Amino acid sequence: MKELQYLNKYFIKYKYLFCFGILTTIAAQIFASFLPNLISSTINTIVSNFSPDADKHLIKEKLFHFILLIIGTTLLNAFLTFWTRQWLIVMSRHIEFDLKNEVFRQYENLTQHFYKQNRTGDLMNRISEDVSKVRMYVGPAVMYTIMTLIRFIVVVIFMYHASPKLTLYTILPLPVLSYAIFKLSTQINKKSTLFQQNLSTISSFSQEIFSGIRVIKAYSLEKQYNEKVEALSEESKKKAMDLAWLNSLFGPFMLALIGVSNLVVIYFGGMMYIEGTDGVTDIGTIAAFILFLNMLTFPVASLGWVSSMVQEAAASQKRINEFLKIRPEIKNNTEEHSEIKGDIVFENVSFVYGDTNIKALENVSFTIKKGETLAILGKTGSGKSTVLQLIGRLYDTTSGNVKIDGKEISSLNLYDLRNSIGTVPQDAFLFSDTIKNNIRFGKENATEEEVIDAARKAAVHDNIINFKLQYETMLGERGITLSGGQKQRVSIARAIIKDPEILLLDDCLSAVDTETEETILNNLLDFSKDKTTIIVSHRVSSAKNADKIIILEDGKIIQQGSHNQLINQEGYYKELHFKQLSEKEMT
Ligand code: ADP
Ligand code: MG
Repeated sequence: MKELQYLNKYFIKYKYLFCFGILTTIAAQIFASFLPNLISSTINTIVSNFSPDADKHLIKEKLFHFILLIIGTTLLNAFLTFWTRQWLIVMSRHIEFDLKNEVFRQYENLTQHFYKQNRTGDLMNRISEDVSKVRMYVGPAVMYTIMTLIRFIVVVIFMYHASPKLTLYTILPLPVLSYAIFKLSTQINKKSTLFQQNLSTISSFSQEIFSGIRVIKAYSLEKQYNEKVEALSEESKKKAMDLAWLNSLFGPFMLALIGVSNLVVIYFGGMMYIEGTDGVTDIGTIAAFILFLNMLTFPVASLGWVSSMVQEAAASQKRINEFLKIRPEIKNNTEEHSEIKGDIVFENVSFVYGDTNIKALENVSFTIKKGETLAILGKTGSGKSTVLQLIGRLYDTTSGNVKIDGKEISSLNLYDLRNSIGTVPQDAFLFSDTIKNNIRFGKENATEEEVIDAARKAAVHDNIINFKLQYETMLGERGITLSGGQKQRVSIARAIIKDPEILLLDDCLSAVDTETEETILNNLLDFSKDKTTIIVSHRVSSAKNADKIIILEDGKIIQQGSHNQLINQEGYYKELHFKQLSEKEMT
């Protein structure tokens, strides 16, 4: 229950909806409680017809009068019930919306570290299933609780007024009903959670099959996978049947308990009427009590259902709270605008990946001035990508400083920093959207011309216009699949269109041929004249025109200098240079 207190801020935010909801509930319950008494009076009026000196005309008139009252009360009650739902359920939808957004904002703030520790399926569950369960608490659960409470008080007052003793008999079986339903609902919820879990296993399993379908077909593993899915489905069927069994118990069980309660009222009420004791002096009172009882059974039964709903909501809110409590390691430390020019300095930077304890960089120092180009070369795993991640402040250094324009990187406005960097990551990621929108991701309001210009610079325009729909071609799941080199170039166009102060290219020419590489590098030469550029590569051809070249090995700088300096030095660069020269000659 403590967990659910987190939601109180939302009840306060929607206090008007909440208060109106409660007020209409009170009014609706009061009007509803008039009904049994009206019906009781109607029945007594009919019964009075049996007495020998009855005035038929007068009785008919009275009857008509009561019927009008019953219709009026019912309509009023219906109208108020409608508004109760409008206020309270609408409030719960508002809260659901706010909570979803809150969870999503938190997702966006959290760092890569978090995403590596959590499975996508779990993240999806937080925002969909857990939030839905919480909504059941802020909506239906709260509404039924208020309704039950008020109805109980009002009805008991009415009943007590007529006959205290019969009131006692009437409400005595109700706690049993409520408890039994609570037990049953808890079981149903448990089974339904199991069923849901199984369902999500099946869907993530099939999702993986769909994305790996080419591999599965190539290895002709269809039969094995069919069997696996069948086994999972079989389990799901069993769970669904368990659930269906419990669900079918629910209705008959409730009816039986309500039936017993009705019998109690009829038996004891009848006895009291025959003896003429305890306030039961007419048939109408017994009828009124049966109606009162039936007014109570549904809300009292729903209390059982509500408590199990609240339990579930608390469990869900607990998971949500745990995750809202996580503070992202990387925070924006200033609201002030930071103008980024592009001088970059690394001072004795070391970096250890917290989750694996891998020391990715050790005492790395270098300087690049605005407008210069730095090339970083080295074997895989030597720390090249890590350098770029530190410049985008996706991580903070373990020791040493990264300075931009002479300022500590963590003192800059994080959003301004990232906005002035154009990154082309090693594994180009494209969204399932048109090519145009994928490029425009770097600059949302870019014009058609700007998109084409960026694509030209990235040497991918000619490929794009060969597609039937050209820039409107859909990529990804429902569209075409680009080749590795095309993906890299679209990803470069995305960074170019942003016109950033700092351009970071992480091995993004690995899948294009040397000729295209040459074209792109030449285009970039002009484009990046006044920008700071870092090119990560494993080709000398990408590095040779850079103002400065760094060679990394196991996180340490083992060589640095210009192309001319390095080819005259024994070491990695010279070896690579000659190896790649001879490869070029051979082809
Ligand atoms: P490069 O780009 O030169 O191939 P990286 O900078 O990607 O090298 O990686 C340097 C080292 O850090 C490697 O040993 C790699 O396994 C490790 N590493 C890279 N990224 C992560 C990460 N997100 N979490 C943990 N370790 C990582
Ligand atoms: Mg890398």
